[in-house]
Amino acid sequence: MTTPCIICVAITGSVPTKADNPAVPTTISEQVESTHAAFEAGASIVHAHVRNDDQTPTSDPEKFARLMEGIAEHCPGMIIQLSTGGRSGAGPERGGMLPLRPDMASLAVGSNNFPTRVYENPPALVDWLAAEMLTHDVKPEIEAFDLSHILKAGEMYRNGQIRDTPYVQFVMGVKNAMPADRHVFDFYLATVRRLFGPDAPWCAAGIGANQAVLNDWAISQGGHARTGLEDNVRLDRDTLAASNAALVRRTVAVCEQYSRPVATWQQAREILGLRPQTA
Ligand SMILES: [Zn+2]
Repeated sequence: MTTPCIICVAITGSVPTKADNPAVPTTISEQVESTHAAFEAGASIVHAHVRNDDQTPTSDPEKFARLMEGIAEHCPGMIIQLSTGGRSGAGPERGGMLPLRPDMASLAVGSNNFPTRVYENPPALVDWLAAEMLTHDVKPEIEAFDLSHILKAGEMYRNGQIRDTPYVQFVMGVKNAMPADRHVFDFYLATVRRLFGPDAPWCAAGIGANQAVLNDWAISQGGHARTGLEDNVRLDRDTLAASNAALVRRTVAVCEQYSRPVATWQQAREILGLRPQTA
């Protein structure tokens, strides 16, 4: 298994705060610094949300613009993926940053339960977000919280709502959504290969203690891996992760275990078919 493994670092998210782990970066300057350390440790994609001064989530395009600027300056070449997730805003607010033309954005294509609420992704909003991504040449990462989301991505690809072969992320271990179940994981993977071909790249994310589990499953099966404080603030039950970079280093060690080289940002861009960088 020699395909380089792309490591995505989800630095902040919408949920964890400094009360959960003081290393969670919430200001733009903390986020840039944390991303830089994660980049040096081996991450080639940064998945980002932005926060207000009181740490509550926001979709403010102005904050996203400043974050993109800082990352482009300090981590040249790194792939920037912005979240259009539903915890940071409602309706079209969720796509207000897409005109900034990040390399990628997350795209949920269906609804499911979250720990304390319904994660609402109504069809009209999904269609609109996908159309905005086409307009601004932003590559979506399909967040598959359920099997139906993988098939929906296939339908959108056939309809031309998604330009390239969908890049699907299996998200497992969100309370009240799909648990980290190995049989389901294997079926997800078989479904991606059936719909999009045996060589289609894919990735996986696990929440909490499942982060390490999904890293292991994805890396051993030739997929790409996500880590970071958004999904998990601990190294183990008793130890908080010191930083996003510490979590990236843990994922790098799994790559070594399975003899997967860690993708450089150049390799990651090639694997994902991203538009070349504008200088
Ligand atoms: Zn996110």
